[in-house]
Amino acid sequence: MALDAAGTPALWQQGWYRHARRLDSPNFGQRPQAAQIDLIVIHSISLPPGQYGGAKVQQLFTNELDWQAHPYFESIRGLQVSAHFFIERTGALWQFVSCQHRAWHAGVSSYRGRSNCNDDSIGIELEGLEGSHFEPGQYESLRSLCAALLQAYPIEHLAGHEHVAPGRKLDPGAGFDWLQLRNALGLPASCFPPAPMGP
Ligand SMILES: [Zn+2]
Repeated sequence: MALDAAGTPALWQQGWYRHARRLDSPNFGQRPQAAQIDLIVIHSISLPPGQYGGAKVQQLFTNELDWQAHPYFESIRGLQVSAHFFIERTGALWQFVSCQHRAWHAGVSSYRGRSNCNDDSIGIELEGLEGSHFEPGQYESLRSLCAALLQAYPIEHLAGHEHVAPGRKLDPGAGFDWLQLRNALGLPASCFPPAPMGP
């Protein structure tokens, strides 16, 4: 175990965050060489949509979801996806892919003049429904995670899936409070998508 100068476990080890519960996903790949990881992509997900709790998202990201367990799951049968992080409604934080690797969350995407956002971004899924609100505990987990990411990676942009795949994706949607996140992190507006942001 890597220790920092004070003898405490390091916040990051090979791209894994100490304060996240680790559950390895097989859905990842290598990043391109010299990838500049400067973007955080924020998503929302719930399975089935609008239903919270349980372990269906964790099962999806580890290819363990029973496609027959709900009619909605039939519509995504065989989907192989992942995100680096998932934040439950309670604020509980999970990590599925090392930040050193490429997770499969953004799909066809383009932002800050570069395409294939999975190559050089970190994906964070919030348990929720696009357009609906998110819980205070989720904002707190997101804030501390983003602060730790800002220390470890040259992050310059935070955007939603809806911003990197406009017209194709709608998450996290109008219920996500970008201004709250921006203020909590003390970042300039230039790090975020242009207004209108949030409700
Ligand atoms: Zn998304």
